[in-house]
Amino acid sequence: MNRREWLAAMAAALPMSRGVAAAPQPQPPQKPGPIPLELKDFEPRSMLKVPATRVPRARFPVIDFHTHLGFRAVSKGGVAQGEEMKFRAPASELLPVMDRVNLRTMVNLTGGVGTGLQESIKQYQAAHPDRFITFTEPRFAQITDATYPRDQADDIQRARKAGARGLKVLKTLGLYLRQQITTGPLVTVDDRRFDPMWEACGANKMPVAIHVSDPEAFFLPTDRFNERFEELNNHPDWSFHGKDFPSNRQLLEARNRVFERHPKTTFVALHVGHNAEDLGYVAQCLDRFPNMYVEIGARVGELGRQPRTARRFFDRYQDRILFGTDAVPHGTSTPQQVFGEALYEIYYRFLETEDEYFDYAPAPVPPQGRWRIYGIGLPDAILRKVYNGNAARILGL
Ligand SMILES: [Zn+2]
Repeated sequence: MNRREWLAAMAAALPMSRGVAAAPQPQPPQKPGPIPLELKDFEPRSMLKVPATRVPRARFPVIDFHTHLGFRAVSKGGVAQGEEMKFRAPASELLPVMDRVNLRTMVNLTGGVGTGLQESIKQYQAAHPDRFITFTEPRFAQITDATYPRDQADDIQRARKAGARGLKVLKTLGLYLRQQITTGPLVTVDDRRFDPMWEACGANKMPVAIHVSDPEAFFLPTDRFNERFEELNNHPDWSFHGKDFPSNRQLLEARNRVFERHPKTTFVALHVGHNAEDLGYVAQCLDRFPNMYVEIGARVGELGRQPRTARRFFDRYQDRILFGTDAVPHGTSTPQQVFGEALYEIYYRFLETEDEYFDYAPAPVPPQGRWRIYGIGLPDAILRKVYNGNAARILGL
């Protein structure tokens, strides 16, 4: 019986009587409608049956060039103030994990300045000299001082004497620091007041770990076309769309002018040159600037979704790529950065295996965009360079 025949039969069987409460009408069989499900609740589990390789330990000892074991305690409008530090975990908590995953050395980039730097060095590097390395940071909050350019260069020299092995530049420069620190126009990345600082780093053999921009999607509207919509929706303050923010490309070009102007200074452009979505552009920059290196922290999600392009990139720039994770002990708001075995295993699996379609972060929902990644199965000779050789050379180990 089709639907029309069924309706006719029902009409014949149930004569309607006006004024009398109608008996409940039997309903025609319904096709099930769509089940409401919010995107945030969607956790699809892959049905692919493909090899899944466990890589709990790296094949060669690792230097993690990009970690954060402490942060400046006071910050205003994205600009760190004073010297006081807050530490995320003691060395005693980190060392057993490091031993299990074959992590030889952690580079703690946010080591701070002055007494804060001394405290960072004391807690990690001085106590375990072969396991921790400490970088210092600029005193951006002093930029309005007339003597800032010289003072900052002198501070780099002092930090070197105290034990710092490099300089870390957060995206404070480019996206937060303004002419009157927290007000006025943004200070550009290639502002001349930093020239003595970049030169001092070169003279003191201190590589600069620099990060001045973010994924291109962070500069676009947070709308239904944005591939990182959920991430930006979870962290609205990560959006640099509109207002007076420069574009991603303007930031990268200003950064490039710094690389060009200071050829004797080594720059490690973190997060795959802050442009992992466009390895063609990163390659052009590496070709133009022999003093530029890149690091892969928090970007296996980008590299692993373009495994063939990434593999060619690693082949060609195998002497210029450093291993890093951007790991933060107890950094729970960003699962792609939580220090621990699960995080390192993802990086090792990406670099060492040809596994397909696996998670780039230890989280039920991919936090940087809803996709999964593919391993690039690097040969031993390249793995050794990426895991430790390139970093050891730059750090003078
Ligand atoms: Zn970082």
